Amino acid sequence: MRLLVVGGGITGLAAAWEAVQGADGRPPAEVLLVEASPRLGGKLHTEVVDGLVIEHGPDSFVSYRPAALELAREVGLGEEVVATTGQRSLSLRAGGRLRPLPAGMGMVLPTRLWPFVTTGILSPLDKLRAGLDLVLPRQLREGEDVAIGTFLRARLGDGIVRRFADPMIGGIYGSGVDRLSLDAVLPSLRADETAHRSLMLAALAQGRRARAAGRGPGSPFRTLRGGLGSLVDALAARLREAGADLRPGTSVTALRPTADGGAEADLSDGTTAVVDAVVLAGGVSSSAALLDGPAPDAASALSSIPLASSTVVTLSYPASAFPRPLDSHGWLEADPAPISGITVSSTKWAGRAPSDTVLIRAFVPERLGETARADDAVLVARIVAHLADVLGLTAGPTLTRVARWTSVMPTYTVGHPARVAAAEAGLAHLPAWRVAGSALHGVGVPDCVADGRRQAGLALGHAAGRARVDA
Ligand SMILES: Cc1cc2nc3c(=O)[nH]c(=O)nc-3n(C[C@H](O)[C@H](O)[C@H](O)COP(=O)(O)OP(=O)(O)OC[C@H]3O[C@@H](n4cnc5c(N)ncnc54)[C@H](O)[C@@H]3O)c2cc1C
Repeated sequence: MRLLVVGGGITGLAAAWEAVQGADGRPPAEVLLVEASPRLGGKLHTEVVDGLVIEHGPDSFVSYRPAALELAREVGLGEEVVATTGQRSLSLRAGGRLRPLPAGMGMVLPTRLWPFVTTGILSPLDKLRAGLDLVLPRQLREGEDVAIGTFLRARLGDGIVRRFADPMIGGIYGSGVDRLSLDAVLPSLRADETAHRSLMLAALAQGRRARAAGRGPGSPFRTLRGGLGSLVDALAARLREAGADLRPGTSVTALRPTADGGAEADLSDGTTAVVDAVVLAGGVSSSAALLDGPAPDAASALSSIPLASSTVVTLSYPASAFPRPLDSHGWLEADPAPISGITVSSTKWAGRAPSDTVLIRAFVPERLGETARADDAVLVARIVAHLADVLGLTAGPTLTRVARWTSVMPTYTVGHPARVAAAEAGLAHLPAWRVAGSALHGVGVPDCVADGRRQAGLALGHAAGRARVDA
């Protein structure tokens, strides 16, 4: 079996890895992976300079979805996996003050009651309103997707949405909670309402179960000592050892179905590849463009997924610029600001910077409007001024980097599950062609790894089934 993987981001690399393994009685496949950029990894992009480990894209993955952790172990990086330092310590800047998030706070809901009741982040009125959740009847209707913001406001009030849900979820999913789909982004909240009626009771019960099982309040985030780029390097090396043909600097420009359900691909180097199965892991726009002729309904469903932009600004400061040592892992902004939040990488992870240096990542999502569109110099100046103001810094940064991710973050807005179903139905006539990655079933690195592997297995499984029928 010959598999073509379009795109050498983490999804494509995971798909290739699955294919060269062979599984469920399926022999290892021959893999051709084509990546348009000269660098493999896509959004996983680590730069190491002057003792700094700079992540231009993701900096970590969650451990409760194990696919990324498992992949790291499979490629020999098990010993390189590291957790965040100390206890999770994230703050929220609200009302002009940095306040620690209450202990046990999840994305939206508290898993411990007392820290939530005593937090200064919410007003007494907001807390009382959130408490109404305990007695309100169920709000959701079966089969009807709603915005996360609408649902949470109905159950818990506006305070929780403004102070917790929007900064936390909006930061990860590239859009405000009033646009994001409950069923695509947080389906567990629907399940919680169905099972417990009250979201508070459900979250507190989860917290009690976790504590009883000995799972402490530690952060679920993990990374690799040398940055996530080391996962890309290790995967590429192991894939090449296994005989995979990895071609960075080459793109797939057109795909046509072959008579036997495989594909013929035109590559930018002027060659053509004929394969039994394809995993399209190049992102929404790339997959939609390649499917436009062979599967127009799938292409149009994919094109209807909105794409957001985000910028990561990395700044390195001498530790002496800080009037007090910065021990927090970062903060989220609930106040007007030129950023949605920062991560203090040198505090959050060991070994990210020399001990006399503070390494900061600042996030500028598209929804910040004019600031997000400003050119690099203006953007950096605004962020530097903001950090100086909040932290009382006495010197400017010694290194700055700006990584722009323009129109490449699929946004799971209300109705996303229907768009996913339409994309899959539109490709049903070509079962050995599969779309994988952050477009459909989850944007996190573990989701992409799991989906890449699953779709490679399905593509090859269908191709093998077809080959058996043909024989
Ligand atoms: C700023 C930022 C921070 C993030 N932080 C986190 C985080 O901390 N934790 C987390 O879990 N997730 C995070 N994410 C999400 C996560 O990084 C992405 O969802 C994931 O990396 C997407 O991987 P992918 O392989 O599907 O796509 P990509 O990484 O976009 O890779 C697709 C690749 O396909 C190539 N390509 C496209 N078309 C073609 C073609 N026709 N021919 C050949 N090649 C093609 C592209 O050049 C690209 O390299 C973050 C995302 C961003 C943007």
